[in-house]
Amino acid sequence: TPSNGSSDSFVKMPTIKFTKLFIDGEFVDSVSGKTFETIDPRTEEVIARVAEGDKEDVNLAVEAARGAFDHGPWPRLPGSERGRIMMKFADLIDEHVEELAALETIDAGKLFGLAKLVDVPSGAKTLRYYAGAADKIHGEVLKMSREFHAYTLREPIGVVGLIIPWNFPTTILFSKVSPALAAGCTMVVKPAEQTPLSALYYAHLAKLAGIPNGVLNVITGFGPTAGASISSHMDIDGVSFTGSTKIGREIMQAAAKSNLKVVSLELGGKSPLVIFDDADVEKAAQLALLGILFNKGEICVASSRVFVQEGIYDEFVKKLVEKAKDWVVGDPFDPKVNQGPQVDKKQFEKILFYIDHGKREGATLLTGGKPVGGKGYYIEPTIFTDVKEDMLIVKDEIFGPVMALMKFKTIDEAIKKANNTKYGLAAGIVTKNLDVANTVSRSIRAGVVWINCYFAFDRDCPYGGYKMSGFGRDNGLEALHKYLQVKSVVTPIYNSPW
Ligand code: NAD
Repeated sequence: TPSNGSSDSFVKMPTIKFTKLFIDGEFVDSVSGKTFETIDPRTEEVIARVAEGDKEDVNLAVEAARGAFDHGPWPRLPGSERGRIMMKFADLIDEHVEELAALETIDAGKLFGLAKLVDVPSGAKTLRYYAGAADKIHGEVLKMSREFHAYTLREPIGVVGLIIPWNFPTTILFSKVSPALAAGCTMVVKPAEQTPLSALYYAHLAKLAGIPNGVLNVITGFGPTAGASISSHMDIDGVSFTGSTKIGREIMQAAAKSNLKVVSLELGGKSPLVIFDDADVEKAAQLALLGILFNKGEICVASSRVFVQEGIYDEFVKKLVEKAKDWVVGDPFDPKVNQGPQVDKKQFEKILFYIDHGKREGATLLTGGKPVGGKGYYIEPTIFTDVKEDMLIVKDEIFGPVMALMKFKTIDEAIKKANNTKYGLAAGIVTKNLDVANTVSRSIRAGVVWINCYFAFDRDCPYGGYKMSGFGRDNGLEALHKYLQVKSVVTPIYNSPW
């Protein structure tokens, strides 16, 4: 039976050590002195009060970051030295993995086991990946048409604002902080208001590792205040944002209206998983279930639209529903649990609204559809079928454990349906037929396509959106280039009249 946050036999509460803003290497109160609550989604109780940063605090953080960029050692250090310090930062994360994973569990409702094995270590691994690249940043020699010698330099873009969502407070933070550090940028990081705790802990570790003051600043606070002050700041050179499409649009407008800072946006998705008749039905059902339920469906690449070819449809449905019923919802500290609580009340209510809407629109609820009783924001794995492509549950990103299941006949129909979305973040294909895999993967407009797998993330695999899922890439060497700009330097070879 699903449990919830009330069972305390496996609860480990970390001590909350860091709740203030981190500016110029120091933990400080916000200028206004205001704080806000961060809530444990397992229990709906307050974990801690955290400093609420606003415009004045962002200004102070930018001043520190600007000073560190214009006059400090960080951008001027040899890349190998930046890399060495980043490696030390990574080691410190590994040393504190339990405590950091527990913070992720109480703040974001993440499974403790996964936070400890995947999320937190991924921060360290991403730091090491870009640490290794820090001394390999170079331009190229150009072949000029006339008698000039020319080459390009790759220079850090300067002070960057990094705006992070709540669903992967560690992974996404390091997918931005690490390449920015390697490039020699300085930064102002704004974690999501729902999950501010781990970012402050990471700031402390950054200082211990020897990252100079002012290079990495963390401003906790809300989007319309602290976040908007970053996107509209006149002295921030670039902003890298992960979050909703709606806010992505606002960030771009703010950048356009202020100083035309460089923008990159990783936004929402409504990703298709297309399963063909030749698939192993057992494995395909497992993949589809994981594709929507991993991290309680709070993942932008969730396979929220599943298309199954008619030949295996009935058998697939049977297996999928069986598996969904075995899926355990409960306290994310319990190792037997597969799915913890949604991040907060707002998200919980939004998901329940969509489930209700789906029922009212006439979709068939195969399983789930209800909150798991008691305290905490727990929702049952939910699968809808008999859905139409114009239903809200098929069009909108729900960001929860809710799947829309559909049937198809031909490859062309599958491609057309898979592409029938404003988003283009990810897609999955299950087939043993190489021709089908090649055709479909090239025809789907999405930034990543997984064949016979899903969520096959790796830090050297660039990741980002087509269409309204945004632009710019996190991960891979592509992401390093996001924090660099190219300068061409030209000189005559001979003593020419130029
Ligand atoms: P959100 O857009 O509301 O918030 C994301 C971040 O932006 C938070 O730190 C928030 O405080 C800040 N923010 C909010 N308003 C702002 C503003 N006006 N100016 C500047 N910053 C502002 O999104 P969310 O609800 O926190 O996260 C869920 C959404 O994020 C989903 O739509 C999901 O798909 C998307 N997401 C995308 C990816 C990806 O890699 N593409 C990853 C995770 C989440």
